[in-house]
Amino acid sequence: MNETIFNQRDLRFLAKNSLDQDAVELDKIKRSYAQGMPLAYILGKEEFFGYEFTVNPSVLIPRPETELIVEKALEIIKSDKLNSVLDLCCGCGNIAIAIKKSTQSQLRVFASDLSLEALRIAKINADRHKAEIGFIQSDLLTGLRGEFFDIIVSNPPYVEDESIKGSLSYEPRTALSGGVDGLEVIRKITGQADGCLKEKGYLIIEIGYQHKDKLKDHIDNLGLYRIVDWIKDYSGHFRGIVLQKNG
Ligand code: GLN
Repeated sequence: MNETIFNQRDLRFLAKNSLDQDAVELDKIKRSYAQGMPLAYILGKEEFFGYEFTVNPSVLIPRPETELIVEKALEIIKSDKLNSVLDLCCGCGNIAIAIKKSTQSQLRVFASDLSLEALRIAKINADRHKAEIGFIQSDLLTGLRGEFFDIIVSNPPYVEDESIKGSLSYEPRTALSGGVDGLEVIRKITGQADGCLKEKGYLIIEIGYQHKDKLKDHIDNLGLYRIVDWIKDYSGHFRGIVLQKNG
């Protein structure tokens, strides 16, 4: 017989100890929250596009505005019957997984990030949601030369350095920092992406709400893409750009 039998005194002891333990834990949580740590990191999870994602401080916390980017990507993938997509700077994998879960199984979905720890978390999320994704470690598109996608979707770092403070300082700086004007990484991506896109391939990038005019000038000067659309959030801010590689 290997049943454990507790007497009343043991039970009281166990109950008190676990309550003390819970109180200590709760106290830790309250202190972290009061200091500004985002709740998603305290809980280790965040909801995005109806799915729950594991997060930790080595990945950006998924935001609702990125759902608009996913919706636009899905619209194009379906209307143009696209076959391959890359989520560039995938973080916890939220864009790639949301797209894979919302399309038929033939769509080949890849996700890349510079951070191995981000890729580890993204893989946990892909397994958790049974989404078949090909993961690639790459510094932007430099590790993907010779690959050609129908569409590249990205929520890259685009926060101006001086704005990285407060609760943002809990998130990985490399996932946020877009340099002095916020467009440093986006300029690199737009410079590299035409080499990894099929003819007439699409590039969708999430942007800061104040970037539209400067980005438009940059794209016009670059001469590699046509601006197909701008994505607006529910406050009327421009939060994404849809580009198509020139044929
Ligand atoms: N959406 C985040 C913010 O503005 C930034 C995300 C990013 O840089 N990709 O707080």
